[in-house]
Amino acid sequence: MFEADRSSALRLRDSEGRVYLDAVAGIGCAVLGHGHRRWVDAISTQLSKLASASNTFTTGPQQRLAAALAERFPVDDCRSFFANTGTEATEAGLKLALRATGRDVVVTCERAFHGRTIGSIALTANPKYREPYVRCMGEDASGRFATMNVVRVAFGDLAALEGVFAELGPRIAAFFVEPIQGEGGVWPASKAYLVGARELCDRHGALLGVDEIQCGFGRTGDWSAWETIVGRDGPRPDILWLAKAMGGGFPIGACLTRAELAEHMGPGTHGTTFGGNPAACAAALATIEVIETEGLLGSARAQLPTLQRLAEAEPCAEVTDVRGLGAMIGVQLGELDAGRAAAITPALAAAGLLATTPGGHTVRLLLPYVAGEAELLEAWRAIATACAQT
Ligand code: PLP
Repeated sequence: MFEADRSSALRLRDSEGRVYLDAVAGIGCAVLGHGHRRWVDAISTQLSKLASASNTFTTGPQQRLAAALAERFPVDDCRSFFANTGTEATEAGLKLALRATGRDVVVTCERAFHGRTIGSIALTANPKYREPYVRCMGEDASGRFATMNVVRVAFGDLAALEGVFAELGPRIAAFFVEPIQGEGGVWPASKAYLVGARELCDRHGALLGVDEIQCGFGRTGDWSAWETIVGRDGPRPDILWLAKAMGGGFPIGACLTRAELAEHMGPGTHGTTFGGNPAACAAALATIEVIETEGLLGSARAQLPTLQRLAEAEPCAEVTDVRGLGAMIGVQLGELDAGRAAAITPALAAAGLLATTPGGHTVRLLLPYVAGEAELLEAWRAIATACAQT
C-alpha cells in the first residue's frame, strides 16, 4: 500500500522517496499546502500554551473561532458546535434537526456522502457502507425508509423532493444536501435547486442542512459553497457543517446553526471531550488568516476556469467533462469499464499525480488553494498520460 512519508507545500513524498503532485491533499484538508509556516507556528505556540481543556471549559481560541465563523458563513445569528471530524459535525446536525422539530424523518440525496458513523451512514447513499449494520438500524423491510427513517431523493430533482414533501411533509425534520456532491463524483447543485429546496423546507416547517465538509471553507472561492451558488443576498440554510479544510490539515469540524435552534442543544444534550480543542481551533484560525492574507479565495476560485482553458488548449479525447467549482474539480473520463476504473489511480500516481476517483469515472482534484496554472497543467498532463497508459 502507498505509504505517505513527508509533505511540503504541494508535494507529497512516499516511503521510497518518490515525489508527487498532491491533488488528494488529505482529501481536501491541506488547503494552504502542506506545512505552511504560519499554520505550524500557530499550532505549536498553542500546544505549548494550552493543549487540551476538554468541553468543561471554553478557551480563547474557541471563542475567537466561533466569532470568525459567524462573520464569514451564511448562518444568521450563528452559533457553532465544535467537533473533531466531519462525521461528528453531521451527527450534531442530525440530532439538532430531530430535537428542534420533534419530527422523525430526514430526507437526503442519492449519491450523498455525510460520513461513516452510524447516524451519518444512515444519511449516506452508498448501501455498501450500511449493509453490515442495518440489522441494528431498523431498516424497513418494505425498503421505503432505507434506514432510520431516512428517505433518499435524486440529487438536483426538485420535483422528486416536492413529491416527498407532499407525502411526508409533517414528519420531515430536515432536508440535508451537499451543495457540491464530493464522494458522489463532484456534482455541483444548481441555484434553482438549492433555492427551491429552501422554499420547500420553509413551506413544510422543515430545516435545511448543508454539508460543506468537502466543498466549503473557501474551496469555491467564497467561504461557503452555498454562497457561491445561491449568492450573497440569497436565502440561507438553517444548519451548515464544516470540517476538512477548516483545520488546514489538523482535525476539527463544526456544526453551525442559528441561536434559536442551538437552544435545543443546551448543556448536557450533546458533547465530545476533544471538540473545540485549543490547538485545533488555533489551526483553524491560522487557516482563515492565511487564506485571507494570501488572497487564496481568489486563487481557489480561478482553478476550474484555468483547468478548463488548459483542457481546451490540449484536448484529451478520453475526457468527457471538466466540472465543479473553484478548487473542487471533477475530470470525467467517460464511462470507464471496471478494469480501467481500477487501473486509473495507480496510473495517475505513476504519472506523478495523487488523485482519487469518486464515483469511479471521475478524477477528483482537491488541490491546495495555492495551486496555480503550472500545477494544473502538470495535473492535466498526468491525467492524459494515465489515460494513454490504461
Ligand atoms: N460529509 C462530506 C460531504 C464528506 O466529503 C465527508 C468526508 O469525505 C464527510 C462528511 C465525513 O467527514 P470525516 O471523514 O471527517 O468524518
